[in-house]
Amino acid sequence: MSLFKKLKKIYYTKILGKKYYRTGKCKGCGRCCRQIYVKHAKGVIQDEKDFERLKHQHRFYTYLKVMGKDEIGLVFECQNLDSETHKCKIHKTRPGICRRYPQEEIFMMGGTLSEDCGYSLEPIETFEEVYNKIQKNSKKISIWDKLFKK
Ligand code: SF4
Ligand code: SF4
Repeated sequence: MSLFKKLKKIYYTKILGKKYYRTGKCKGCGRCCRQIYVKHAKGVIQDEKDFERLKHQHRFYTYLKVMGKDEIGLVFECQNLDSETHKCKIHKTRPGICRRYPQEEIFMMGGTLSEDCGYSLEPIETFEEVYNKIQKNSKKISIWDKLFKK
């Protein structure tokens, strides 16, 4: 692994606390602006009254319109999406949350990327690296057990 890749990995995992790299490029299909869930301190928004309160916290919420509800929560669509071109009408001034999309938190909400999305989220650590770490930690624990728990 090159020095640049090593430094990048340290920066992403130790400083940003990330587990995935975002790779690829947006194809401009507009799907992620249609099937939106909103998560806040209490979890995914289930109730329109809770959502109304959130609107005062960030301009992004004021763009959203409730389209329905499913097993995860309320489903929103952004009103800035042009229904004909599938492009964002405020692309140059779109909020940071849109610029950073997709983020790995999407998985924690039970979400996935749409099949045709141009982006992918690639694990930063390989399966082997994670496995070796677990092995190393379990050895440390057993040494601790031997020394102090007997
Ligand atoms: S502001 Fe633009 S990019 Fe963000 S969700 Fe709405 S349409 Fe999509
Ligand atoms: S789903 Fe992916 S490709 Fe489509 S607009 Fe959103 S980020 Fe771009």
